[in-house]
Amino acid sequence: MSKLQPARGTRDIYGEESRNMTAVVDTFKRVATSYGFEELSTPIFEFTEVYKRPLGETSDIVSKEMYTFDSHAGDAKESEELTLRPEFTAGICRSFISNGMQQNLPCRFMSSGPAFRRERPQRGRYRQFHQINAELLGQAGAEADVDIIAMAWRILKDLGLGDKVILHLNSLGDLESRAAYRTALVAYFEKHKASLSKDSLRRLGGNPLRILDSKDEGDAKIVANAPLMSGSMNETSRAFFETVKNGLDELSVPYVLDERLVRGMDYYCHTAFEFVTTELGAQGTVLAGGRYDGLIEQLGGPPTAGVGWAGGIERLAMLSEMGSVPARPIVIMPMGEAATLKAFSVAETIRGAGHPVTADRSGNLKKRLTRASKANARFAVVIGDDELETGAAALKDLDSGEQQNVPFSDLAATVSLAYGDIA
Ligand code: ATP
Ligand code: MG
Repeated sequence: MSKLQPARGTRDIYGEESRNMTAVVDTFKRVATSYGFEELSTPIFEFTEVYKRPLGETSDIVSKEMYTFDSHAGDAKESEELTLRPEFTAGICRSFISNGMQQNLPCRFMSSGPAFRRERPQRGRYRQFHQINAELLGQAGAEADVDIIAMAWRILKDLGLGDKVILHLNSLGDLESRAAYRTALVAYFEKHKASLSKDSLRRLGGNPLRILDSKDEGDAKIVANAPLMSGSMNETSRAFFETVKNGLDELSVPYVLDERLVRGMDYYCHTAFEFVTTELGAQGTVLAGGRYDGLIEQLGGPPTAGVGWAGGIERLAMLSEMGSVPARPIVIMPMGEAATLKAFSVAETIRGAGHPVTADRSGNLKKRLTRASKANARFAVVIGDDELETGAAALKDLDSGEQQNVPFSDLAATVSLAYGDIA
């Protein structure tokens, strides 16, 4: 192990990738705001129970991916089991309960930040990754599912991904339908027990739906012939799903029905969806979510409907590459002590007009100009003894090579004109 490397599955994020990720978050916040969402930031760790109960012991996350630790500070009484956030929904529902927010329903929450899962690192799959997350609480009607999917679609389109992703849609039905489906699945998988993977055998007793989500190749062959959810759907569940589909049709959101789509966590009902791309290999799901009406009650809160989704920022950023190119800086070059002092305030004035200014205070002028060109600077502002005396800097256009003397007080306006952003 080299201490100079980041820990396995974690990465330093900078440069173009960082700009691309920022563009994803900015787009998310702008669009979600237009849908009436407000920001909610929950802690990055919670009591382990917050995740364990709703996600379910047999989920991939709880059974093997959580970073759980004991917080004891040498005092047994203070010992508590904590877990780094593996996903947002459970913590947000915990926060909703803790803060008595049921008085203010419906609630629309947007969040973003890191999440942690102990997975085998690959391109697009990390142990510390980042999500954008949206939750809509307190609306039981299927129209809310349409709203939140429409919002995801708008974000994806604004990120330039309209042609790169496709919405996969399914319904897991209500409690009654799920119970009927569960029975049908257990009967089917019992017949194929001998060929199921160890993980899936474990799921058979707990949550057989999750076998449909298995990434094991052997399981996939058995899953291919498993009964479909649609065979177990009652009238209520069918009507709910129809409303979702009609809404998406009205909005011209393209989708494919995918009866094999189940979500990895226990708390989902009715709508389940994933936006998928073919461009990122096995890491093709960029944004996924669904309805989770029972979750808040399960955590000890009042029965509250909920629907939401999470998007992987790294995967979205890789696909969209929408990060803005950084504005070209202006480099201020004071020659000598008196000029160095004056340069502080001259730089501040130009920054005040909204332009990035850096200072280069070492080496001869030729060296500084070379460095500035390498840094893709647009202008050099040279201040020496002569300039101090006349009260005008030498402004050098690094693209054309032209140079003019500009009074200190006019510098900001002159470079603004050149950047083309004032009339
Ligand atoms: P997968 O099937 O790829 O493991 P998941 O079903 O576990 O995904 P969710 O829990 O639905 O993923 O998380 C929502 C989104 O967060 C995913 O669609 C993906 O874009 C992103 N995501 C999940 N896990 C990771 C990870 N380890 N690294 C990077 N992004 C991730
Ligand atoms: Mg996963």
